Amino acid sequence: MASNCIFCRIAEKEVQARIIRENADLMAFYDLNPQAPTHVIIIPKKHIVCLAKAQAEDIELLGKLQYAAKEIAHELGIGEAFRLVLNNGHKAGQTVDHIHYHILGGRRLMWPPG
Ligand code: AMP
Ligand code: ZN
Repeated sequence: MASNCIFCRIAEKEVQARIIRENADLMAFYDLNPQAPTHVIIIPKKHIVCLAKAQAEDIELLGKLQYAAKEIAHELGIGEAFRLVLNNGHKAGQTVDHIHYHILGGRRLMWPPG
């Protein structure tokens, strides 16, 4: 837990979020500023700054996040077409320094991204 981290504070329920799923390892909640009709953030409860800082001991946790993402996409009705995004580093668009996936869907998603 990093006390100055907004996603840790959501995981600790100190900051409210529209939570979709929670278990011992992870939490999923709706993005505050959605970029698609369905836009969910999925985080590990463990404070990992970014994928580049993940350790081998985090491999199972990262797999759980990805598997939860596909289950959540299915549950929210976008299981056939969705995008899973992980921005690593500020120059790649990362604004919250707690590793997270975006699940985006519900509209046509173009490629390449900007
Ligand atoms: P990134 O730019 O990849 O670091 O993504 C951070 C995402 O977190 C952005 O899409 C924000 O809209 C979202 N976000 C930031 N604060 C909150 C919050 N308190 N509740 C829900 N989503 C948030
Ligand atoms: Zn954190």
